[in-house]
Amino acid sequence: MAESLQSAAAMGVTLDAAQEAALLRLLDELELWARAYNLTAIGDRASMITHHLLDSLSVAPYLHGTRIADLGTGAGFPGLPLAIACPERQFTLVDSTAKKIRFIEHAVRTLGLGNVRAVHARIEQLPDLAPAPAWDTVLARALAPVDKLLPLVRPLCGPETRVLAMCGRRPDAELAALPAGWRLVSLHSLQVPGLDAERHLLVFATT
Ligand code: SAH
Repeated sequence: MAESLQSAAAMGVTLDAAQEAALLRLLDELELWARAYNLTAIGDRASMITHHLLDSLSVAPYLHGTRIADLGTGAGFPGLPLAIACPERQFTLVDSTAKKIRFIEHAVRTLGLGNVRAVHARIEQLPDLAPAPAWDTVLARALAPVDKLLPLVRPLCGPETRVLAMCGRRPDAELAALPAGWRLVSLHSLQVPGLDAERHLLVFATT
């Protein structure tokens, strides 16, 4: 099992033994809770490692700054694996579904993660709830297509914020017609070990 996680090194992510153990423990807890609370679709262990852990970790080299928001995090992906891999950054995980936030709070307690805050809210309400300075990085995996995502997160972004949108196939049509006020900073084709599917990371900033 641990060997599968060592393939994270191929993506530029180095994990020590304690981090590997925490990541695998996270999957154990997710499996338990998912069965009890119908939390998320759970596949076999190998595909959970690939889809939930390695796919989340694949964006670690692209995180910017220390204050990271994972919006529409679901049961904590990609936010929880990234928080385990990057203890020096602070993560705020947001979802509108209460039972998913309860799982994240449970995982935070069980794994002793001091750098994760879970917020039960709709993204649209966040500017009111958290009038903090803009995030350094806003993450979104499987939340919304680019033309919906960027306007949704706009109130949370300042000039230095980077929005990291994780997607499957490269959304060429959407990139050709970005919402006003946004630019594509970079586009990365990601190789996730064991994942036989196209993965792309889009990095956006406001203009
Ligand atoms: N990022 C996770 C979950 C993706 S599913 C993963 O990749 O596994 C999308 C999640 O976004 C769901 O959990 C849903 O509850 C949440 N969501 C959708 N619209 C939202 C909104 N406006 N505000 C907060 N959460 C939202």
